[in-house]
Amino acid sequence: MLINKVQTGSLEENCWILKNTQKRAVIIDPGSDAAGILGGIGVAKVEWILLTHSHSDHLGALAEIARQTGAPIAIHLNEAEIVASGEPNPPDFSLKLEPVAVAKKLEDGDILKFDDERIEVIHTPGHTQGSCCFRINNELFSGDTLFRENVGRTDLPGGDAEALRESLRKLLKLPPEIIVHPGHGENWTIGKAQKFHFPI
Ligand SMILES: [Zn+2]
Ligand SMILES: [Zn+2]
Repeated sequence: MLINKVQTGSLEENCWILKNTQKRAVIIDPGSDAAGILGGIGVAKVEWILLTHSHSDHLGALAEIARQTGAPIAIHLNEAEIVASGEPNPPDFSLKLEPVAVAKKLEDGDILKFDDERIEVIHTPGHTQGSCCFRINNELFSGDTLFRENVGRTDLPGGDAEALRESLRKLLKLPPEIIVHPGHGENWTIGKAQKFHFPI
């Protein structure tokens, strides 16, 4: 599986493009720059558009990408309505969004198929109520829950510091070799996070 990062928008949000050898792709968090993301996909067929959470800096190119690819959108059920409405989140966020159809409302433990790969949904509330991480083998796409040497803020609507601590405990039980691909900034590993955050 190939993993490409497209950094988008003024908040430098990371959109992740996963491609397999069968010329199929998954897009995680299309923040903005639809042309750049579509360029990264090339001729691959997009199987899923996955959203780690509903903050607008992760959704700016969502409607355009969904239109161009016809791919189904999936997000945790707690935040599906926010995304479908097209309303900005947080409400004072200046980015203009459009309503979209959410094809799948995710829950903790869901497994999505990506050809021979399994994408595991890990519900990690705290940054927002419906924040999720997506695990494929030894790759973890952590949204705004876990960053390199940092964690997501909990002062926005739906944020909950205690819930984030619980979510972090859950993530740090994963194997140390797992590579963390966050929603902003550089990659990390679960092993480094275990040392950095211990004790939680
Ligand atoms: Zn966020
Ligand atoms: Zn973000």
